Amino acid sequence: MRSGGAEREQEPWIVGADAVTPRPWEDEWVDMPTGRLHAVSGNGLITGRALCLAPVELLDPADWTWPDDGAQEWPLCWVCLARTC
Ligand SMILES: [Zn+2]
Repeated sequence: MRSGGAEREQEPWIVGADAVTPRPWEDEWVDMPTGRLHAVSGNGLITGRALCLAPVELLDPADWTWPDDGAQEWPLCWVCLARTC
C-alpha cells in the first residue's frame, strides 16, 4: 500500500476518426483522418466504436491526443466531447 500521491490519473482517450485516408507527406504516404475526430475508450477499442457509438478508425495514440488535436480540418465530435469533459 503506497501512501501519499493519491491524485487520480485520468484515463487517456484514444482518438478515432470517421475515416482514414493515406495522403502524401514529404516522401511517404501517411494515414490522415478525414471527417470528425472521436474519443474512444477501452471498450471501444474492441468494438471499433467511439463514445457516441459511431464506427471509427483508430488513430495512432503516439500522434493524436483527445481533445487537443481537434482543428478546423478535423472538428471534434460534440457528442464525444460532451462525454469526456
Ligand atoms: Zn463521436
